[in-house]
Amino acid sequence: MTETTLEKDTEQHRFEADVSRLLHMMVHSVYSDKQVFLRELISNAADACEKLRYEAISDPGLMSDGEAPQILISLDEEQRRLVVEDNGIGMSHDELIEALGTIARSGTKAFMERIEAAKSGEGAELIGQFGVGFYSAFMVADKVDVISRKAAGNDAWQWSSDGKGSFSVQPAELGDAPARGTRVILHLMEDAKNFTSKWTVERIIREQSGHVPVPIRIAEKPGEEPTSISDGSALWTKPKGDISEADYTDFYRGVSGQYDDPDLTVHFRAEGRNEYTALAFVPGSQPFDLSDPDRKGRMKLYVRRVFITDDAELLPRYLRFMRGIVDTSDLPLNISREMIQDSPILASIRKGLTGRILTALEKLAESDAEKFAKIWEHFGSVIKEGLYDDFERRGQLLGLTRVRSTVSGEGLRSLADYVKDMKDGQKAIYYLTGANLEQLKASPQLEGYRARGVEVLFLTDAVDSFWAPNAPEFDGKPFRSITQGAADLDEIAKADGTSNEPSEASADVQTFIAFAKEKLAEEVADVRVSSRLTDSAACLVASDQALDRQLERILQGAGRLQTAEKPVLEINPNSELIQSLAGQGDEALRSDAAWLLLDEARILDGDKPSNPRLFAERLSRLFERALKEH
Ligand code: ADP
Ligand code: MG
Repeated sequence: MTETTLEKDTEQHRFEADVSRLLHMMVHSVYSDKQVFLRELISNAADACEKLRYEAISDPGLMSDGEAPQILISLDEEQRRLVVEDNGIGMSHDELIEALGTIARSGTKAFMERIEAAKSGEGAELIGQFGVGFYSAFMVADKVDVISRKAAGNDAWQWSSDGKGSFSVQPAELGDAPARGTRVILHLMEDAKNFTSKWTVERIIREQSGHVPVPIRIAEKPGEEPTSISDGSALWTKPKGDISEADYTDFYRGVSGQYDDPDLTVHFRAEGRNEYTALAFVPGSQPFDLSDPDRKGRMKLYVRRVFITDDAELLPRYLRFMRGIVDTSDLPLNISREMIQDSPILASIRKGLTGRILTALEKLAESDAEKFAKIWEHFGSVIKEGLYDDFERRGQLLGLTRVRSTVSGEGLRSLADYVKDMKDGQKAIYYLTGANLEQLKASPQLEGYRARGVEVLFLTDAVDSFWAPNAPEFDGKPFRSITQGAADLDEIAKADGTSNEPSEASADVQTFIAFAKEKLAEEVADVRVSSRLTDSAACLVASDQALDRQLERILQGAGRLQTAEKPVLEINPNSELIQSLAGQGDEALRSDAAWLLLDEARILDGDKPSNPRLFAERLSRLFERALKEH
């Protein structure tokens, strides 16, 4: 092929904008742990081998040469090159352009935004936590060539780029190309030349990729006979006693694409009705796409050591943060990915696995409360989805639930702690929902509970507004929102021994309440005497049959609720303000006061006054009046 025809066959493509952004960030990052590129390339090579194994089940011709999948690393110190080659599934012309020119991986965009927002040092840390994929090659190489031939394909293609905004694709000489699979050639930068040292590279691979399920070999010089680094045996098939914590961590990193340490490892072999091995991890940090509502789980399904899919729902959605694998001999190897979802065997595995993971979490909560608290801070808001999704396990999930409360301080309370410390006469578990913890702590609705030393749970996750009102019971105790219905505090003694009788409102106060009820009829369903206030003059609560007010806000915010129920305004008859107000004869003043009490209560709930303009006018009138009287 002459220079000109080669020129003619060469296509130039620009990287997708997000790829350019990612590349720029990676090349210019001061991230010192550049060796992660090797793990990324080996993981891609291993994925390609696993895809081939899977495809070959239905199309054995793909592996007709009898070559078992393997990964070969070859080094060339003189040319300053490192090559990662696999005999996996390979990429066609179009696949090369699609896979190595765009970003498919979900979460990458969110990841980039976090890096850009982070301070310089932290950004580097973040890169380390997140698998950055193929493009990480440009952290160490100023030019990368990828030569690939699709299994059973009869053409081969070369992709090349210097990582600066564009790449080229051209036909590759078949004689030069791998017989099957992909060769990634890194032309290393001057300061990355240590990646041609066999000793260094071998150490890194053992450390980072010792457990990829495909054998890895290494050759120190071009043409030299390679030696084996790892035999590709599956870690999960080994007896637990033979596996070190470092082995587990390495495997976890491979399967999760994160670089942190797992906070919990669950490894077991189930026998009996279904036979399968599971190796599952709770990640040590939050994945970047945790809150993505479409995100499915990331557990991989193997059938007799052949990777089938990472799309099967091996766990309920509320355990979607788990990473790991299930390997079963109960499913046929040639099961289609579509069939898997409906398989009763899968349903039964999901049930067994869920149970084992929850039990492991329970054990951890007992043996290492601190570690469990860390897991809860990361994933509690997801686990709590199970409280309304998985009725059967609600009791078990409530047992795991941890919350802040009026007595927790910085720590977390379990519901068992709560029930143990309940006051005489207390029948319910009280909670307050809202997005902002500081604001919740300042809620007037808490006063009557505080006065009695009754603990109130602060439920600050959006998901709390969905499970708590559908009142589960814990240990036979119902849950009650302290912003809904009448407070049932009469049977609990006050801590300071003062009278517990509901306060009798004086005739004046009663008249004022009736007056306010009429004035505010458009905004509130009722105005009544409160038994939950001790200091504040007024607060808002939902009526008994209405939705919890926080849930109402969330639904309205999501556009799923058009009209809100009117709340109830509760008045504290013992408040000095209310008592002196009630004695006032001036109708205009009483009207302004009633409205201001309502708006004040709204503000304390984190809402706006019903009409900011009128609110300001009423407040000004009161100011003027106060100033005149002085
Ligand atoms: P990810 O592996 O998370 O999908 P990468 O950036 O590592 O992201 O790789 C992007 C895509 O490029 C892969 O999904 C795959 O389709 C393709 N790819 C990369 N390396 C190989 C390889 N050695 N063999 C076949 N396909 C590959
Ligand atoms: Mg990858």
